[in-house]
Amino acid sequence: MIRFSGVVKRFGDNVVLDHLDFTVAPGEFVSLIGPSGSGKTTILRLLMTLEKVDGGTIEVCGDYLSHVRKGDRLGRADEKHLRAMRRRIGMVFQQFNLFPNMNVLRNITEAPVRSLGLAADEAEARALDLLDMVGLSDKAQAHPAQLSGGQQQRVAIARALAMRPDVLLLDEVTSALDPELVADVLRVLRDIATSTDITILCVTHEMQFAQDVSDRVMMFDHGRVLEDAVPEKLFSEPGHERTRRFLRAVI
Ligand code: ADP
Repeated sequence: MIRFSGVVKRFGDNVVLDHLDFTVAPGEFVSLIGPSGSGKTTILRLLMTLEKVDGGTIEVCGDYLSHVRKGDRLGRADEKHLRAMRRRIGMVFQQFNLFPNMNVLRNITEAPVRSLGLAADEAEARALDLLDMVGLSDKAQAHPAQLSGGQQQRVAIARALAMRPDVLLLDEVTSALDPELVADVLRVLRDIATSTDITILCVTHEMQFAQDVSDRVMMFDHGRVLEDAVPEKLFSEPGHERTRRFLRAVI
């Protein structure tokens, strides 16, 4: 579903990703862990085409995402291709980024109607199903400001899923939440992981969650995959001293 081949990403002199190779199979839930600054968020941003690579290639569903290099000018066909690729990928951010002036239902139906061309009633039916899934059926008419952070984040998850992406990217989605609101969001993500065949790439500091739901965990350090293992192995018998130190510090 996802293939990074020799991906290089620099910010000035700072080599953030250094010939990075990894693959993610369809339906896998892969957690990205590692110290701050090790390049995890950059990987998600490259997949969202919010950043461009300096070298190497990224494929999603067998199509190239990154034949577009930094500085390239995009032709119309490239733009169209990128838009189509972007639609296959949903992202949920640390800050929920809901549209403050729209109610919850509209937040979820907006993109499917506008960019998928879904009929309003169909988009609404889909949104209501998703709200049920994230436990917020009674909040369809509420505005974001009337919701707790955890509820807003669950709406953001429903909004991403409304586009029926093949890949869902989660960037520290519980980091901005008060501790007592984290559990509800993690429960929803657990449900999604077990009840759908969506491919999920999850940057997280919630080690217990990563251990419970991931099919695979990748430990990053300085833009490289230091360790790539099933959670049972990575958390109980990490192969690298750096991983052991990191886990001791965060658990
Ligand atoms: P992580 O998610 O593992 O904390 P990031 O991918 O956010 O790491 O960042 C990796 C490195 O890239 C850091 O050194 C960070 O300062 C740098 N970086 C990220 N985004 C930018 C940017 N837009 N401009 C300059 N440097 C950046």
